[in-house]
Amino acid sequence: MKILIVAETDGARISEKTLPAIAFAQQVAPDSFTILAIGNNTEGVETLAGYGAQAVLVASDPKLAKPLAESYAPVIAHHARQLGADLIAGTTTTFSRDVLARVAGILDAPMLSDIMSLNVNGSTLIAKRPICSANLIGTFEVEGSPIVCTVRGPAWGKPEARGQSPIQQAEVPSDIPTRSEWLSLQGGSGGRPDLTQARVVVSGGRPLKDSETFEKYIGALADVLGGAVGATRAAVDSGIAPNELQVGQTGKTVAPELYIAVAVSGSVQHLAGMKDSKVIVAINTDPEAPIFQVADYGLVADLYQVVPELIEALKNGR
Ligand SMILES: Cc1cc2nc3c(=O)[nH]c(=O)nc-3n(C[C@H](O)[C@H](O)[C@H](O)COP(=O)(O)OP(=O)(O)OC[C@H]3O[C@@H](n4cnc5c(N)ncnc54)[C@H](O)[C@@H]3O)c2cc1C
Repeated sequence: MKILIVAETDGARISEKTLPAIAFAQQVAPDSFTILAIGNNTEGVETLAGYGAQAVLVASDPKLAKPLAESYAPVIAHHARQLGADLIAGTTTTFSRDVLARVAGILDAPMLSDIMSLNVNGSTLIAKRPICSANLIGTFEVEGSPIVCTVRGPAWGKPEARGQSPIQQAEVPSDIPTRSEWLSLQGGSGGRPDLTQARVVVSGGRPLKDSETFEKYIGALADVLGGAVGATRAAVDSGIAPNELQVGQTGKTVAPELYIAVAVSGSVQHLAGMKDSKVIVAINTDPEAPIFQVADYGLVADLYQVVPELIEALKNGR
């Protein structure tokens, strides 16, 4: 089986979010995977070269300076055809959901999303993925070649360091569509670690009232721990936190070493995005709140009292 891994990028820099997809390739086809990085003079390409890929292909062109699915997908489809790739994969992120779905369309290929495991039986792939807000695990069989897939980051982890791969300039097709124009990127983590990559995530729920209060309590606790900030959908819908911070079924999936849920009830939709976290701490006034069923440590308390105390204690190294 030949795998083409698509590196995650903002066009200027390779993202660490690529790593689970490389770990996936190492497990499924250790001797026959290639990594494709797209952008314009993209930084960090060399960080992809230490994992035993047959090659790291670099498609560089000013028209690829921004990660637009419309322009990236034909480049990926072109190299998938040239390589004779059986599987084209990336880590489950907004980038690959956008770009790889379009690749599947161009190649008329079936697509598997967010897979946690994969078995190969002849030309049939048998994959497991979470369904029903991650309360059930579904098994899916797909036949054919090529197949496009996204892989669930926490399930595949980080790749092992292996032999160095040659870095090669890759052909850029001349007919890249340019109908869409990149205008701006809203949001960003405001100097904090990326939510999906952070070691610590502090999330806040609806009771945080407004964005200033959210920042004062959730932002400050995250900062003292060097962590990222997350939010529930109720907090996002109430305008307390920006959309890109939403964790859950219709938000981001995170699996940090430490997840602190402050005034978060623990709906199934929220749990779907964070229950793989290694240690979960919950602060909630309601001892019956469902979040306590998944929490390793629970504090039945008012956030407005205990969060400032916690921040002070952490600042003083207690
Ligand atoms: C199709 C669909 C998709 C969804 N996707 C998502 C998703 O991706 N992510 C997501 O989060 N939700 C999602 N939801 C919404 C979800 O069902 C819940 O409504 C939401 O998660 C609740 O958010 P919350 O915990 O902030 O608010 P609430 O449910 O209102 O809970 C607030 C909690 O704070 C506690 N509390 C109140 N005051 C204090 C205080 N002073 N100190 C400490 N604790 C306090 C309360 O006891 C309560 O447990 C989705 C819903 C649907 C239908």
